[in-house]
Amino acid sequence: MMSSILLWFGLTTTSVYADTWQCPGHEPSVSFQRVESLEPLKMDRYRGYKPAWMALEGNYRSTIYNWTDMAVQDAYLADRNNYLDPIMYHERLRRLLDTHGDSLEVWQIASTHFGYPVYAILLGDSAQTNKPSIAHTFTIHGNELIGVNYGLDAIEYLLETPDVRQDLLGDFNLWFVPMVNPDGVWLSMRRAHASTYGKKNGRNTDGTCEPYAYEGIDISGNFPTRFPTEEPVELESETIALMELLDRSNTISLLSVHTGGNGWYTPDLTRDETGVLTELIDGFATSMTTELGDAEIKRLRPNSDLGEVRWFFENYHFPSFVYEYPSDIAPMDHLEREAARNHTLALIQSYWKTLQAKAFVRGVVVDQQGNEISDATLHLPQTLRKEFTWMVSETGEFALMLPNQDIVDLKVRAEGFVDAQKKVDVREGSATVRIVLQSKESKK
Ligand SMILES: [Zn+2]
Repeated sequence: MMSSILLWFGLTTTSVYADTWQCPGHEPSVSFQRVESLEPLKMDRYRGYKPAWMALEGNYRSTIYNWTDMAVQDAYLADRNNYLDPIMYHERLRRLLDTHGDSLEVWQIASTHFGYPVYAILLGDSAQTNKPSIAHTFTIHGNELIGVNYGLDAIEYLLETPDVRQDLLGDFNLWFVPMVNPDGVWLSMRRAHASTYGKKNGRNTDGTCEPYAYEGIDISGNFPTRFPTEEPVELESETIALMELLDRSNTISLLSVHTGGNGWYTPDLTRDETGVLTELIDGFATSMTTELGDAEIKRLRPNSDLGEVRWFFENYHFPSFVYEYPSDIAPMDHLEREAARNHTLALIQSYWKTLQAKAFVRGVVVDQQGNEISDATLHLPQTLRKEFTWMVSETGEFALMLPNQDIVDLKVRAEGFVDAQKKVDVREGSATVRIVLQSKESKK
């Protein structure tokens, strides 16, 4: 054992790949391209130094060296407790597309500094643009290796459980980004793995051509804030891609899973004077008590660097949550991994059930000629003078989530139109409405 570690250390001093990763590097980009099928990727054999995952785990290391042996590849991928680097993850998605291509959509939403694709997986139908989406993100910090497994577990559970899937798809499109930060995963597995190493992405921030695992940009901390205290930072392609995904998919709830703690974190709600959003968001922890167990339940600070969740809430006023589990950012022991995966899947299932018990109003706002009004805002009557409002999309469509299945008075306002109020019955859980606004001109 001792000798193999020493040997390992000895190998790290010479690496022919060292300056091909960051210099010149790849040009990151954002895209929304549906992927019908994937080709197998060539495994890279870049050797990390001692704290890299590759040095810590012999099975992973030998799998890389024998990746072209299909029996080795199959065995490694079949064990759902094994951690996946970007090439292995790509292979898992390739196989999922082959076997379940009619039940899921794979979209490439970005390309990273190291040239890895960022994939978003949809269970549902991207053509149903007015359907609300629920979004799940994982491994935004690349060293939180088990997050990839969590994301794939949730997808596979739905693929293998058609009744649950169909039930959920009746209400939502379900988006998953199991590996938001492939560069960070690669750094963590090949360069150095620690609580800070591999956390950020692959941007060259130290000016050297060595891709050190401490460098890069923290994607979670890269989201813009509405209340900037300093110069705005340049947004990374991973960040922009997530923002666009949440925006264009009509997302009404975001769950971002992290590791390195045991907590359920909700957005800062100090500006919610009406209590509507507080009731809605706190209601999740109340109905998920069993699965949350001894998790710390807390609000995020207004300037939290868990930016995906803060940003989404600030901009859309829909629920968003961080679930952090377990305390070990990437458990080594396979039984611990298995327990953490089972626990997290149960929590996500409970989150879905909680979502389905809420009330939803879907609809469109139009003028008297039937043209969509793209700048309308929606309010519950008691929120009229408050700052939390919901906006319709460019096509005048909206989807709202409400705390209770009840009859609600929805107030609608738009520049140049007379305010309107509509009673909406969501006692059955959901309703679809068409709201016609009368122009101020026509009233004169
Ligand atoms: Zn994290």
